[in-house]
Amino acid sequence: MGPSFNNPHCAQNYDPLPVVLTRGQGAYLWDVEGRRYIDMMSAYSAVSLGHAHPRIVAALAEQAGRLAVPSRAYFNDRLAPFLAELCRLTGLDVALPMNSGAEAVETAIKAARRWGHWVKGAANPEIIVAEGNFHGRTTTIISFSSEPDYRDGFGPFTPGFRAARFGDLAAMEAAVTSETVAILVEPIQGEAGIIVPPAGWLAGLRQLCDERGILLLVDEIQSGLGRTGAWFAYQHENIRPDGVMLGKALGGGVLPVSAFVARREVMDVLTPGSHGSTFGGNPLAAAIGLETLQVIRDEGLVEKSRVLGEHMLERLRKIRAPALRAVRGRGLWAGAEIEPRYASAREACLRLLEKGVLSTATHQTVVRLAPPLVISREDLDFALDRLEEVVADLAAVPSRANAVARADREEA
Ligand SMILES: *Cc1c(COP(=O)(O)O)cnc(C)c1O
Repeated sequence: MGPSFNNPHCAQNYDPLPVVLTRGQGAYLWDVEGRRYIDMMSAYSAVSLGHAHPRIVAALAEQAGRLAVPSRAYFNDRLAPFLAELCRLTGLDVALPMNSGAEAVETAIKAARRWGHWVKGAANPEIIVAEGNFHGRTTTIISFSSEPDYRDGFGPFTPGFRAARFGDLAAMEAAVTSETVAILVEPIQGEAGIIVPPAGWLAGLRQLCDERGILLLVDEIQSGLGRTGAWFAYQHENIRPDGVMLGKALGGGVLPVSAFVARREVMDVLTPGSHGSTFGGNPLAAAIGLETLQVIRDEGLVEKSRVLGEHMLERLRKIRAPALRAVRGRGLWAGAEIEPRYASAREACLRLLEKGVLSTATHQTVVRLAPPLVISREDLDFALDRLEEVVADLAAVPSRANAVARADREEA
């Protein structure tokens, strides 16, 4: 392998697959040796429009050359049209722009707490979250994670959160107290392994929140903007949350752009001086955000995700291989669970890489399949053919990792 993968100046907080990328176009990525790959994870949905989308690249150049970052100390002519479109699409009233997804979640938490203090009259506002959640990496957000890897050694943690089982309405209901101000959930848990809750669960949460005077906050940072075959995954349940977090795909694959969008009563508690971000809402980000929403609409990417997603899941469900334990997903977003007796999900990803398909493992057992929504049916089928070969091979040819583990066991 030509280039060196481990640079002593790179912090070791990631464990990348052994490939050095240098170029991307649509659903393709190229490594420094000129080898082409199909991108089957699209940077966790950040690249839903594909790499270097021509309209995004043009909007980026045009806006960067005109006005990029004047600060929110002034109005700019790009922000309002972008936020108006976010409100129109979500059916909510007010949007607050940030950069990373975690900042949008932090914004939702701050708004919910202040709403809890000022509107609901809670002395110690508490937010109910789901076990197995992923909402980002800040100190407060990892405080309510149930994943030891995300938390170990980072305490003390922020109080005020209570976890209940994902997909379990009765458990969420049992967790509600007089201090509960909000329920914060992903409509489908991405990092947990593309976990789809039972039908009716989100609608049940909506009803529970209405009955108890609690805010329903839905994190659509990964699931939103077409990924599941709807603009927002909560639309599958015909509900409207009180607040929605968006990010990832909102930046068109070129910038971090996020937002918290909410009912007016919720957002109005954020008064001047109480919250902000130096880069949040800059005209460059706003121009890219608006262009992204328009590209999704103009290219019919939501419908495309629904149709190609059904095709992908149908193909995955037909695979009969002992190394493929389960598949689940919605739209162009699926998890293929690898039977750990045969191999880790990382081993499956390494073999896919050798065959020209890029994916990643989430936890030890799940291969994530989330191609750019612009992917062609042919390229998707190519990637699924390779996956089929890999899972067939995993059972036939024991993986290196597994052989080593077996040798270790025998030695012990
Ligand atoms: C990725 C993700 C986040 C965090 O977004 P960052 O941009 O990495 O801060 C939050 N919530 C969900 C559901 C995500 O998938």
